[in-house]
Amino acid sequence: MRVCTECGGELATVFRFCPWCAAPQRSKLVEFFRGHPRDRGRALRVSRYLTEDPHVRFSVWSPGGVAEAAVSLEEDEAERLARFLADPRVGRPTALRRLRALIPR
Ligand SMILES: [Zn+2]
Repeated sequence: MRVCTECGGELATVFRFCPWCAAPQRSKLVEFFRGHPRDRGRALRVSRYLTEDPHVRFSVWSPGGVAEAAVSLEEDEAERLARFLADPRVGRPTALRRLRALIPR
């Protein structure tokens, strides 16, 4: 058991978030996402840094356990990505914008 740094509530050491106030209990959260079958063996690792410089880092891992590429996003871009994944229509140009784009200036 340990104590939440935000509210002082007791929680198990394995908890990522405080069950009492939802405060994050780690400075880095990591999740792995399995690749599409066409990219068999590859995985996407997403690391969320909850530090003074909050950001999200994406890295592509090969079957041999090597990071092939990585990029970090600032929080506002990561939030835009989350909205895009939750609702792909967000950010898509409207029909009017698509028509305006066809008109030469
Ligand atoms: Zn708490």
